[in-house]
Parts: sequence; structure tokens; C-alpha cells
Amino acid sequence: MTAYVRALVAREPAAAPAVEEIRLPEVGPGQVRVRIRAAGVCHSDLSMVNGTLSPPYPLVLGHEAAGEVVEAGAGVTRVAAGTHVALNWSPPCRDCWFCTHGEPWLCATANVAALENGSTLDGAPVHLTLGLGAFAEEVVVPERALIPVPTALGWESAALLGCAVLTGTGAVRNTAKVTEGDSVVVIGLGGVGLSVVAAARAAGAATVVAVDVTEGKKALAEAAGATDFVVSGETLSKDIRSRTSGRGADHAFECVGRAATIRAAWRAARRGGQVTVVGMGRADDMVQLSALDIFSSARTLRASVYGSADPDVEVPQLAEDVLSGALRLDHLVTDRIGLADVPAAFDRMARGEGARSVVIL
Ligand SMILES: [Zn+2]
Ligand SMILES: [Zn+2]
Repeated sequence: MTAYVRALVAREPAAAPAVEEIRLPEVGPGQVRVRIRAAGVCHSDLSMVNGTLSPPYPLVLGHEAAGEVVEAGAGVTRVAAGTHVALNWSPPCRDCWFCTHGEPWLCATANVAALENGSTLDGAPVHLTLGLGAFAEEVVVPERALIPVPTALGWESAALLGCAVLTGTGAVRNTAKVTEGDSVVVIGLGGVGLSVVAAARAAGAATVVAVDVTEGKKALAEAAGATDFVVSGETLSKDIRSRTSGRGADHAFECVGRAATIRAAWRAARRGGQVTVVGMGRADDMVQLSALDIFSSARTLRASVYGSADPDVEVPQLAEDVLSGALRLDHLVTDRIGLADVPAAFDRMARGEGARSVVIL
């Protein structure tokens, strides 16, 4: 039986993505058809259409999503019709060197920017953002890209756990290992940055300085648990030093993905401090640091990919934290929208307004 669904498709980088009907593929062995119920608008989706990345088109956008299993293919064991699931955009193979050495987030086979799956009505093969293409009424994905979640969790929370929250929380807990009393600077307050703020406070950080380009993020930063809010400008380093005993922060998190903000995070960290890059940037955006600065500042610069987490283990744990009230996500969702409203959500994101827009299907 051929199924047709509405999906948000980007045809070329310059044009706004639009809602189209696409043809879903048959559910093959090891594959699952999922009815999407909520899908967050993540900065990586914008990166697919604003020239930051150059994926193949036509491309179904969306990768931070949750839904309900409609049909499970032959050999599928982890989920069945009716199971509530969060989508995993980097499903580990469990077999490669990285997976068998405790780093499934670096799986050699998982990092597929745009798998081909299904076709447009004019017959062209359609590509899926991060192998998911979740801005669609339904998707057909491999079983290992699904993480079962409790039905009580709610679609919006389940969706956010699959990207922004796991990425931000994991960067704090797994990559940087923020501990009691630390001082933390977070640059860029989208869904990921606000999750970093919340996780840093939960880890016991004494000072969490949240930084963004507009005053409009102040209330969101404070709701997430920031102790200080700074609008980024000429005096950023000084503003941060004045809030971190003159030394700079123990940890600086860059949640934008730009050379300029990576340098700002570098300068925000103290001597010997940790700089964690969480944002994904362009291939040609070069970060310049002087050789002497690298030596004498004794800072560590590293990246956090998907929160250095095993999503199959940590998403269910985060779901329990949400259900127990230990982790609050409601402040992250500032707009609930339809599929056709995603381009407007991209505009808000580019202007630095709001936190997460979530497509409700
Ligand atoms: Zn994302
Ligand atoms: Zn692997």
C-alpha cells in the first residue's frame, strides 16, 4: 500500500521550504513507520537551508521529533504499533570501533546528513535531514533510530529530549563534567543553550552567566536558571570577568557554531578553563587563536557531539527526570506552530527571538 503524507520540503537553498505531499517508502525489514506528533525547529534545520551546510535536495527538514509507531517491519523487536518514541538522529550501529569503545555518539556509520528515502510526487528521490526528515506527518526510519518513551511524557517533551535537551544536558554532564561550585558561561540561548544553562545549575554551578545578542532572552535565561545575563557586545570579556572573580569562567559553552563566538567562549574561560563547542558551524569559518595564547592560557578546547551521550540510555533517564519534576522543559517551548509556519520560525530564530518553536501534528 503506497502512503502519501504532507511534509516540509526544501527544494533549493535560496527558496523558502514549503509543504508538499510526498510518497513514503514501504516499511522494509528492520524499519518502522512512525506518525509524528511533535517536532522542534532546531538550528541545524535552518543550517540545511541558509547555506551553512550543503545537503542534497529535495530535502525533508526536521530531526527533533516524537511520535507513535504505526507499523513495524519484519524483525523489529524494540517497538510495536502504539509505542511512543523519540527520534534519534545519530543512531549508533553498536558494531564499529567507536561504538565498541564507549563512544556511540561518534559512530562511524550513524552520521548521515541526508539519507535518501521516499520520493516526491514528480518521482524525484527525496532526502531526509539527518536520516529522519521529521517535519512530516509520517516517517519510515530504521528501528535503531527510535527510543521508546513513557506515554505519560507528552509529545513536546519527548521531541525536545531527542535533540536540544540531550545535546545541552550531555555537554554539561558528559563532555565538560561541570561540578558543584563551578562558574559557567553559556553563549547562545536557543533550545540547546538554555538546556546547557539548566543542566549547569542542576549540576551545582554557583555562577551561570547566560549570553545572547538581545535583551529579549533575559527572561528565558532566568527561567532556565541563569544567575547572570549579559548582552554580547564589545565589553563581553570584561563583563564576564567581573562576574567570575576577575579570572574568567571554569567552563565556557559555545552554542552558536561560529568562529566569532568560539573565540568569545575561549576568552570567557579562565586560565586552565574548559571551552566546549556545542554549536555546529560552517566548514569555511576559521577560528584563529595565537600559538602563544594556546600555550599560556592552558585552556582546553573541545566539541560536544550529541551531548557525548548514548541516546538509548540517556533519553529514557531524562524522560524519568521530566516525569518526576526534576527537569522542567515547559519554558523551552515558546511557539506552537503548524508545518507551514516553520519558515517564519526560522526567521524568529535568525533574529534571536524566543526559544523553541514546536510543530504540532
Ligand atoms: Zn537539532
Ligand atoms: Zn557504530
